[in-house]
Amino acid sequence: FRVFAELAGRDENEEPLPRSPIPYNYVRREPMGVCAAITPWNFPLQMAAWKIAPAIAAGNSVILKPASYTPLTSIEVGRICLEAGIPEGVVNVLPGPGAAAGEELVASPLVDKVAFTGSTEVGRRIMQIASGTVKKVTLELGGKSPSIVTDDVDLDYAVEGVLWGIFFHQGQVCSAGSRLFLHRDVHDDVAAALVKRADTVRVGSAVDPASDIGPIVSQGQLETVERYVGIGRDEGAELATGGERAVVEGHDGGFYFQPTVLTNVDNGMKVAQEEIFGPVLVVVPFEDDDEAVRLANDSIYGLAGAVWSRDVPRAISIAERLRTGTVWINDYHMINPRYPFGGYKQSGIGREHGTIGFDEYRETKHIHVDLAGGRDKHPWWDTLLPREGAAGRPPRGEARPGG
Ligand code: NAP
Repeated sequence: FRVFAELAGRDENEEPLPRSPIPYNYVRREPMGVCAAITPWNFPLQMAAWKIAPAIAAGNSVILKPASYTPLTSIEVGRICLEAGIPEGVVNVLPGPGAAAGEELVASPLVDKVAFTGSTEVGRRIMQIASGTVKKVTLELGGKSPSIVTDDVDLDYAVEGVLWGIFFHQGQVCSAGSRLFLHRDVHDDVAAALVKRADTVRVGSAVDPASDIGPIVSQGQLETVERYVGIGRDEGAELATGGERAVVEGHDGGFYFQPTVLTNVDNGMKVAQEEIFGPVLVVVPFEDDDEAVRLANDSIYGLAGAVWSRDVPRAISIAERLRTGTVWINDYHMINPRYPFGGYKQSGIGREHGTIGFDEYRETKHIHVDLAGGRDKHPWWDTLLPREGAAGRPPRGEARPGG
C-alpha cells in the first residue's frame, strides 16, 4: 500500500521523449474503471493487498472475489478499508464460488479489467471468458520453479535456502522452488544434507509457534500431494524421505504431510513437470551450467527460480538465461513491491508490483492539441479536400496522418 501510494503521487505525464512544440502532445495515465480481482486461498491477505493497492492508487474501484476456502480475511480487509476512510463502493468484497461469482465478474461488460491469481487451468478459462468483452486481463498463475545449485556453492547455506524455497508454507506457494537441479559434483553431498535437514522440519498445528510447517489446505489437496508422490515412484523416482501423511498429536485426521524429497528424477517425469503445490521437492542432476539452464527452461512454466553459487558473475550469467519472471541469487521468496513479479510462458500475463505493475491498472491516453492554427498549416488535408493550387501531398515530417 505504501509503495503504490508513492507511485500514485508521481507525475503521470512524464514522457520518455522531449515534446515537439507544435502540435502539443502529451500522455495521460487514467483509471480503467472497475477492476475485478480474483484471488487464491494460499495468501489471502497478501493477495488482497497486491490487487487492491494498485487498483485504488490508480483511481479505480475494485471488486475482490476471494477464494471460497478463505473469504474471511478479505471481508476484514474490506471493513478496514471503510474504517480507513475509503469511500463506500470503491473497495468491494464479493465472496462466492469461482464458477458463479468469478465467471460473472469476468464476463460482465460493467467490469473493465480482471486481475487474477490462481491456477493455470482457471487462468485459461478466464482468458476465454474475458475475450467476449475484450477485457484487459493480468494473470498470475502456477509454477514449477527451478533452484539451481552449482558446484562452487556454500553447502550449508544452499541446503537451508533450498529447504526454505520448497517447504515454506508447506510448498503451497506459486513460486516454490519445487525442482532442484544439483551439479553432479555436489549432488550426493547436497542431497544427503537436504534429506537429513528435511527430517528435522517439525510438522504441526499452524498456530503452534513450535511448528515449522502446518497442514495442507484441504483434504483434496492432501490427496493430490499423496497421488503425485505415488506417480513419482511409479515413474522411477526414489523416495529419499517423507512421502506420507504426518501424524500430529491432538490433530488426528488433520491434513498434514511430511516434507518429502524425491531423488533420481528425470526432468521429463510428471513430478518434475506438473505443479504439485505441496511439500515435495524433486532432485535432478546436471553436468554443467548450460545443461542446468536447458533443463530449468524445459517447462511450460516460468514464474521464478533461484541460483545458488559463491560465484556471483556465474550466477548472474545463469539467471539471465532463465526464462522466468523472477530469479533470486542466493535467496528465495523475497518479493519486493518496488520490482515486478509475474510469469513467463504459462505462468501468466502481465506483472504485479513496481511501475510496471501499476501501469497494469491504468489506461494510456495520448492527447494531441493543435496550437499552430490555420488551414495552411494542414496541407495534408488537401489529399482529401484539395484546394485550388495545392500540391495535394503531405510534407515530409515526423508526424504523419495514419491510423
Ligand atoms: P484456483 O482454483 O485457480 O482459484 C483461484 C481463484 O479463482 C479462486 O478465487 C477461485 O474461486 C476462482 N475461480 C475458480 N474457478 C473460476 C472460474 N471458472 N472463473 C473465475 N474464477 C474462478 O487456484 P487456487 O487453488 O485457489 O490456488 C492455487 C493456485 O494458485 C496454484 O496453481 C498457484 O500456483 C496459484 N498461485 C499463483 C500465484 C502467482 O502469483 N503466480 C500466487 C498464488 C497462487 P473458488 O475458491 O470459489 O473456487
